[in-house]
Amino acid sequence: MIVVMRVGSPEAEIERINQELTDWGLTPEKIIGKHKVVIGLVGETAALDPLRIQEFSPWIEQVLRVEQPFKRASLEFRHGEPGEVIVSTPSGKVPFGRNHPIVLIAGPCSVENEEMIVETARRVKAAGAHFLRGGAYKPRTSPYAFQGHGESALGLLAAAKEASGLGIITEVMDAEDLEKIAEVADVIQVGARNMQNFSLLKKVGAQDKPVLLKRGMSATIEEWLMAAEYILAAGNPNVIMCERGIRTFDRDYARNTLDLAVLPILHSLTHLPVTIDPSHGTGKSEYVPAMSMAAIAAGTDALMIEVHPNPAKALSDGPQSLTPERFDRLVQEMSVIGKAVGRWPKQLSAIG
Ligand code: PEP
Ligand code: MN
Repeated sequence: MIVVMRVGSPEAEIERINQELTDWGLTPEKIIGKHKVVIGLVGETAALDPLRIQEFSPWIEQVLRVEQPFKRASLEFRHGEPGEVIVSTPSGKVPFGRNHPIVLIAGPCSVENEEMIVETARRVKAAGAHFLRGGAYKPRTSPYAFQGHGESALGLLAAAKEASGLGIITEVMDAEDLEKIAEVADVIQVGARNMQNFSLLKKVGAQDKPVLLKRGMSATIEEWLMAAEYILAAGNPNVIMCERGIRTFDRDYARNTLDLAVLPILHSLTHLPVTIDPSHGTGKSEYVPAMSMAAIAAGTDALMIEVHPNPAKALSDGPQSLTPERFDRLVQEMSVIGKAVGRWPKQLSAIG
């Protein structure tokens, strides 16, 4: 349920209503929008009569039920206003959201050694990326495949961060590693395979680094939003959704089916920012540029693209990785569409 306050409602009145709702055993959450303040209520609201709440104050404009099963994640919870996730990086704050320029995340699938990660960081930064991605802990289908260098790779990410000034995005697979990961990561990735690892979702929800939540490969949009709801309900409001392709019947030509329809769909359902990952979405580097441009045209808030200095030698996901040169060229190509939709950063890399 949400309580929509009138424009210009006095702060003291909002506080009084908050207190009253708390006395009723509810957990009110104040959401400050661009124009209005909304008080969100979650929990046992089924028996509440909206009219009774409406009577609390003449400053209350409306009391509405949130119809969706995902409450905090829903666009209704913010009374239709898109949200933003602002991430602190060594080069300043980078905002993700519909009212902000597109954010570029690039880097290898896995952190392999210091030289390659530092070089990739410098190259993608020079091309215009805001974040370096790279896995220290890798979820691999085969237990015999390269599993990531683990904790030592976190140190290499720290070195790349220091050398480039880029923000860092890396995946957590096990809640036990969360603290060490949070020391270097500016955004913590929950991968497709863990999208419904509810205990992990609760743990990333209980810490304060923003979370990039990848869509499970067979997850419906509602299941994905419910996974985001776990993180929000645990207290972390900073969730970024990431579409990375889903399993469909045809895997002969592309690794996954990149579902770009989630862009208008999620933007109509949630205030959370959305990222597209065309690398896992297609599995082939030659398809990444077209899908990146389509994602920008369709309204993505960010792109996450795998880049490796020598894709043929990559320890994971080489076939879908762009070279730094190709990434650089792609950024130029994307800028045409980005400018056409009014979402291209004035200043690439460092914002703020
Ligand atoms: C990755 O980002 O390298 C990764 C493993 O992604 P996903 O969870 O989408 O497969
Ligand atoms: Mn990968």
